[in-house]
Amino acid sequence: MKTMLPTSTAGSLPKPSWIAQPETLWSPWKLQGEELTEGKQDALRLALDDQRQAGIDIVSDGEQTRQHFVTTFIEHLGGVDFEKRETVRIRDRYDASVPTVVGAVSRPKPVFVEDAKFLRQQTTQPIKWALPGPMTMIDTLYDDHYKSREKLAWEFAKILNEEARELEAAGVDIIQFDEPAFNVFFDEVNDWGVATLEKAAEGLKCETAVHICYGYGIKANTDWKKTLGSEWRQYEEAFPKLQKSTIDIISLECQNSRVPMDLIELIRGKKVMVGAIDVATDTIETPEEVADTLRKALRFVDADKLYPSTNCGMAPLPRRIARGKLNALGAGAEIVRRELSA
Ligand code: ZN
Repeated sequence: MKTMLPTSTAGSLPKPSWIAQPETLWSPWKLQGEELTEGKQDALRLALDDQRQAGIDIVSDGEQTRQHFVTTFIEHLGGVDFEKRETVRIRDRYDASVPTVVGAVSRPKPVFVEDAKFLRQQTTQPIKWALPGPMTMIDTLYDDHYKSREKLAWEFAKILNEEARELEAAGVDIIQFDEPAFNVFFDEVNDWGVATLEKAAEGLKCETAVHICYGYGIKANTDWKKTLGSEWRQYEEAFPKLQKSTIDIISLECQNSRVPMDLIELIRGKKVMVGAIDVATDTIETPEEVADTLRKALRFVDADKLYPSTNCGMAPLPRRIARGKLNALGAGAEIVRRELSA
């Protein structure tokens, strides 16, 4: 990136009301067939335009092409039965009805490659595409075939790598793997979580990122956060291994969270996507608040490696709020850019 402090979002943006129910996470599509394909493309163009108007440097599809950040990917795979559902506890936090792995998993055809090509046609700016990470994928399924979280994670890593290579060929500049599960299963992260993530990113020439967060502002997450005490030190568990990993960029939550900023020191040398926008509140940050978070982060990350971003996705927020937050992010980064070049 030639731009200093290049801005981006961690993931999703709200969908327009004509394609899905507003302010609802994982809302079903309102359209079908051809209309849905066209509707998703229209929504993508609007999401892109909101980012462009806010001066966001690294743009994305705002996840307008998917209903759920994990399930939509899994729906395209073989070996998973969506009719056979089991209730499992997701990230040790909330129960959900999930599909079952009934046989060897496979990727019969590309999942997001056509969507990524469409985004590539719409802009000359750098584009980032998000995929679920292997550990977060296995945590959103019931496994009746491999009977081993690790084995299934390695299988998903291979599938993700196939998809990632095709996304790269489609012109994606940064491929991001979402691994909120890294904030929960510390032993597994260190035993095989980071290794399977590296496998998913193996051989890529484009940049790679991992997004680790405390989740959307839904009740299960805000209740969980209340149990974490006055300092959230979860990042401390995975950071040493990630610092030594092949992943280029680490995306984390900093705004309004109780994550001690000095934990970023543990990934010194990596590029850091610093979450300077809280996605769990409708209050729009001022540019000065964003700038303040970025200034604090600059104590632990070199300016050429700081990527201002959001804590997580903004899908459940009203569109007006999300646009306000995008604008604040763009304006806040600009304040710090000016300070650094003064
Ligand atoms: Zn997130």
